[in-house]
Amino acid sequence: MNTSFTPKETYARISDISIEYLKNDLNIKGLIFDFDGTLRINKIVSIETMNFLKNAKDAGFKISILTNNPHVSRTILNTLNITTTQKFACKPLKKPFLNMAKRMKLSPSRIAVIGNNKWSDIWGANKAGMHSIYIQNFNSFFYKRKIKNNLKNIGIKHID
Ligand SMILES: [Mg+2]
Repeated sequence: MNTSFTPKETYARISDISIEYLKNDLNIKGLIFDFDGTLRINKIVSIETMNFLKNAKDAGFKISILTNNPHVSRTILNTLNITTTQKFACKPLKKPFLNMAKRMKLSPSRIAVIGNNKWSDIWGANKAGMHSIYIQNFNSFFYKRKIKNNLKNIGIKHID
């Protein structure tokens, strides 16, 4: 396996990430979030995720969203109170990550990317020289579909 798909850290959910560790041990100053399956899971942004965003902001982090989804509603961005966003970003190209670093006025090495996709988020972050954090979300629609497909491949067709 190409090591550039390997995240620096892996967690089950955003709220498991230690803000203090990122800030004090790694000297991270900005967070770039993926949207679908990361901030919003099964069409819901959890209370825990909202609290994490608030705590990260209170700790002085700059926060942005980089998503390949062209249709992220203004309402939800207002609710999250995140103004630095890029939709339809063409991840895993390195350029959208570096452009976002410029907009955040931070060096790529001071930024952590948080996402649920090893190809678009983790590979892209690693190429851009950012700290990659993988959210391995077992509750996501995409993960369940993947499991169902795997089960179908071995002959099991009906599961909920
Ligand atoms: Mg995603």
